[in-house]
Amino acid sequence: MTKISKVRGMQDVLPEDQKYWKFILGNFEKKAISQGYEKIDTPLVENIEVFRRPVGAQSDIVEKQMFRVARRAETETDDRLSDAEWVLRPENTASIIRAYLESKLGNLPQPIKLYYSGPMFRYDRPQKGRLRQFTQIGCEVIGDGSPASDALVIFLSYELFKSLKLAKFITLEINSIGCKTCKKEIAEKIKDYLLDFRSSLCPDCQRRLNANPWRVLDCKEKKCRQIAEVCPAIIDLICETCGKHFRDTLEYLDDLKVPYELNSNLVRGLDYYTRTTFEIKPVATGEIKEEPEGRQSALGGGGRYDGLAEMLGGAATPAIGMSLGVERIVDELKERGIDVPELEKPQICLIQLGPKAHQRLLQILPDLLKKGLRIFSAPGKESLKAQLRLADKKNIRLAVIIGEKEVFENSAIIKDLVNNSQETVRLSRLVGRLKTKLKSSKKN
Ligand code: AMP
Repeated sequence: MTKISKVRGMQDVLPEDQKYWKFILGNFEKKAISQGYEKIDTPLVENIEVFRRPVGAQSDIVEKQMFRVARRAETETDDRLSDAEWVLRPENTASIIRAYLESKLGNLPQPIKLYYSGPMFRYDRPQKGRLRQFTQIGCEVIGDGSPASDALVIFLSYELFKSLKLAKFITLEINSIGCKTCKKEIAEKIKDYLLDFRSSLCPDCQRRLNANPWRVLDCKEKKCRQIAEVCPAIIDLICETCGKHFRDTLEYLDDLKVPYELNSNLVRGLDYYTRTTFEIKPVATGEIKEEPEGRQSALGGGGRYDGLAEMLGGAATPAIGMSLGVERIVDELKERGIDVPELEKPQICLIQLGPKAHQRLLQILPDLLKKGLRIFSAPGKESLKAQLRLADKKNIRLAVIIGEKEVFENSAIIKDLVNNSQETVRLSRLVGRLKTKLKSSKKN
């Protein structure tokens, strides 16, 4: 039979990696809640219209990377299939604004501060750091247009990296791409400039040049990057109000002690962004970050999207958000050799010798669990040696051994698997003794 393997671009997170995930998600949740965010979950499946306009009909995400969900008629006369297509969500911001509008969260006191975590899907070419199912954590501040909100959203990302001991390994790049009005004029100016280099651009950029010259500026192809580098700086082209918003944002970042670098080509892939855009990248250290052409290494990013609610049929609503890629942060923690807290492991292995002992262990198990002890057992194994070897391999500190004699005497043997000592205790004293031994082993 052919071997069944996972779908390309998808990954399992095995128990040995779970400590990284808990470290990231736990710290993120703590930081987000302490800064006044509330959790939101949105469905994995959405109508494609949620993304078509906001992300951009011409964007790679909408053009090439959507996972479409097959729909099925529920009755013979069901004609709902002609409704909008269903897709797996490629990102969460547009879904959250859809939920904000649909559930009329705009009627609540503003701003609404939300955080999320969950899988996103993009049918891209898989490579290191680029999966087809990946997990994002992120936040959105909806209903506040002040530059202080821009700075605070960036601050949350920075605080998270600090708590993950990664702050000194990242660079935060920031730019402003202008508001709805000046963005259009800037696009024209960039296009005029790029037209002179049209034949030197990659085929994708040549095609996109008319509809969306911005894309050329964040194209990963080397030849496009070289042309983009000498393009007029967007920051010099934005209008006076956007300029003030940007200067204020930078000033607040200084107040919050968040270090940043200006990058005038930072436009980000999605159409909905206005004004502030930012990205968090790992700093290059020696051979670690010698990146192959096209490799995407950003750990996260975000920006302001004041026009998104209108694109989805709502009233104009200023908003800003960010999202970070959990798998890439896990890779970064590993590559940088950061120690993360170990997950709680079993403390005690229950070992039985014979059917009566087996039954006795099952009788005492609920009590041990009720007292908060973490228990492992392998009831299918019979020999003492096999069970002890297993406990040792799993780094378990104590074994509780019960054989025929102990059943008869209402006792149990506690074996310390680290120093090999053992003692026999009455069952009524078992929990107390186990706790004392675990406590003393913590001190050693
Ligand atoms: P974006 O929504 O494209 O701004 O992505 C935000 C972050 O999500 C990126 O900086 C990455 O860390 C992560 N990310 C985006 N696409 C992928 C992918 N295909 N595989 C893994 N992580 C991704």
